[in-house]
Amino acid sequence: MVQNTYFCRTKGDNMSRLRFDAVEAAFSKVPVNVELEARPDKIFASKVFDKVKMQKYLPQKSYDKMVEVIDNGAQLDSSVIDSVAEGMKRWAIECGVTHYTHWFSPLTGNTAEKHDAFIELDGKGGVIENFSAKLLRQQEPDASSFPSGGIRSTFEARGYSAWDPTSPAFIIGNTLCIPTIFVAYTGEALDYKAPLLKSISAIDKAATKVCRLFDEKVQKVHSYLGWEQEYFLVDEDLYMARPDLILTGRTLMGHESAKSQQLDDHYFGAIPERVSAFMQDLEIEALKLGIPAKTCHNETAPNQFELAPIFESCNLAVDHNMILMSIMKDVARRHGFRVLLHEKPFKGVNGSGKHCNWSLGTDTGVQLMAPGKSDKDNLRFITFVVNTLAAIYRHNGLLKASVMSAANAHRLGAAEAPPAIISSFLGSEVSSVLDHIEYNDDFVKILSKRELKLDIPQIPELLIDNTDRNRTSPFAFTGNRFEFRAVGSEANCAPSMIALNTAVAEQLEMFSKDVNELIQNGEEKEFAIVKVLRKYIKYSKPIRFDGNGYSGEWVDEALRRGLDCETSVPLIYDNYLSEDTIAMFQSENVMNESELRARNEIKWSTYTKKIQIEARVIGDMALNHIIPIATRYQSTLLDNIIKMETVFGKEEGDMLSKENIESVKEIAKNVADIRRLVEELVSRRKVANKIESARERAVAYHDGIAPMLEDIRYRIDHLELMVDDEHWTLPKYRELLFF
Ligand code: ADP
Ligand code: MG
Repeated sequence: MVQNTYFCRTKGDNMSRLRFDAVEAAFSKVPVNVELEARPDKIFASKVFDKVKMQKYLPQKSYDKMVEVIDNGAQLDSSVIDSVAEGMKRWAIECGVTHYTHWFSPLTGNTAEKHDAFIELDGKGGVIENFSAKLLRQQEPDASSFPSGGIRSTFEARGYSAWDPTSPAFIIGNTLCIPTIFVAYTGEALDYKAPLLKSISAIDKAATKVCRLFDEKVQKVHSYLGWEQEYFLVDEDLYMARPDLILTGRTLMGHESAKSQQLDDHYFGAIPERVSAFMQDLEIEALKLGIPAKTCHNETAPNQFELAPIFESCNLAVDHNMILMSIMKDVARRHGFRVLLHEKPFKGVNGSGKHCNWSLGTDTGVQLMAPGKSDKDNLRFITFVVNTLAAIYRHNGLLKASVMSAANAHRLGAAEAPPAIISSFLGSEVSSVLDHIEYNDDFVKILSKRELKLDIPQIPELLIDNTDRNRTSPFAFTGNRFEFRAVGSEANCAPSMIALNTAVAEQLEMFSKDVNELIQNGEEKEFAIVKVLRKYIKYSKPIRFDGNGYSGEWVDEALRRGLDCETSVPLIYDNYLSEDTIAMFQSENVMNESELRARNEIKWSTYTKKIQIEARVIGDMALNHIIPIATRYQSTLLDNIIKMETVFGKEEGDMLSKENIESVKEIAKNVADIRRLVEELVSRRKVANKIESARERAVAYHDGIAPMLEDIRYRIDHLELMVDDEHWTLPKYRELLFF
């Protein structure tokens, strides 16, 4: 029997079986034993065809070529692909693998796989294990089930997946997974990886050019990403008793628990044993797949946790995050949990984000977002910070669009997450340096030909202890990187990295052009750099905000500054089709206009579908769960009222039943309201579904349907407070959040 004050009671006739059984099951679970097979350094990347395996399974020439491709983005020539396919197959079969798949990220937001066995008919009635260069390089998955936003009309429905040699193949279960891009017959991207790779190459090109103003030796600039994945865990039995969690990933109803996160006692608190077993298991699985998991800890909300790896090159980090989100779900089930990646699973409780820590570094080992030792290093550091700010400012609406979704809209601006306005926090040290450059005309004079001397406060000393962080900023400078905090927990990091890399690439190109023009007109290089910097410091001023991003005043201030303050998700997506955005993606050769239009069609229709599902689920739950529960309880009250009348007579009985009579009336009113609202919801959906344009349909869902979910919820949550706890069949917040 369950030993808990809330539930220590016998099962009565009215006891909600569903909820009670779930609670009992949740309570009786014990931590799953996790066996640490080996030390982390022994298991790390054991399931990855990384350089160590390549060295062992490839001929030296092919190995050298692969290293060139991975490290320096060299072109892969077909001569090595044969031997890579052969080596990869040998390694995989030795690991017990029987199948392979091209692994890609279609625009659904998930990952997709099509599993094929390694076998082929040998022509003699048997089979042979085969995996050729052709199969490694390119495949034609049945693509018609993936969204294309109209890029692929049915007569040319072909889509191809093509090997990305810069992200190593890995093993999950008995399958060798080969990271690929996914493109249409026409070459247009149908996935996130293709434009991501293009954006990485755009920023490499633009940033290398700027680096060379400081150091001729730089050949390549890498963009880095270190994500921090937040998530909730819910006991599997409780989860199974909540149709809304199963079908939408969030609770569409549920009154706040009496104890929530007021005490802030969950953060870094003692992780319950079952959770810590899960985390240990997850870490082992992540390490085996080459994901350098580093920190696992509790987050602010009850049952909320975080996992962060060491940062990696942007492409690899994006893939690793997709892999992690997928293995998390499996590992959680082994431990009797379900993992919630939704940005806002619980109302009134902190949501989950995926902070994307972004930086640039050269092939000469310089971190471009970190201050250096010499004045020259620091001028370069300031150059990259200022250009990033200018890019963020110019495309602040697009950056917001890149993180926006039906789910993340619940989180952004919800008083505990960055607002739906992009701004950047720099901290007082960097801010004062920028102010100094902006206002101080002497600054340039101090430069001499031979030695660069900056009249700026000592940057390195000041920044080393850059601990004053502004948690409310959506795009904060944190000492050696920018942290994009508006990204949602469930999102693929790619869209935000594509927007960021491309915007900064475009800005760096402008910067180079401006500086070179001045140099051609006879200006000293350093003078030219500082002059152009000053221009962009002035230009990007409105994006700098070190104050409280959660405050109401900030919204007014941001409006005055001309920042994008739109909150409607479908309208925010318009930023992808603005003249500036299209010009940017085209000039950087990342996406063309038709790709952008296609993607927006998918974004709008995904938004509509998400709200549509939620509307259906809340309707079903209201009619099939909530109203029956409430009326059943109402009947017991009525029973009591009648019995009171029988014993005490009508007048006295009614007086004694005064509160119960009020409750009966209040339940009746709420039930009637809920019925009316659900009917209204259905008829509004019918009207909206007839709208032809994906954008207008999404707008109708946003304006007319999404707000009704809140109206219905309000009444359901009120009933939850009124109805006898024993009648309530759905696990409550206090159970979902504290077990
Ligand atoms: P916090 O929660 O305080 O922001 P964490 O230690 O949880 O810090 O996360 C920091 C994240 O930043 C990690 O994913 C880490 O890999 C990443 N990171 C650290 N330095 C860089 C860098 N130069 N570029 C990109 N990411 C970085
Ligand atoms: Mg962080």
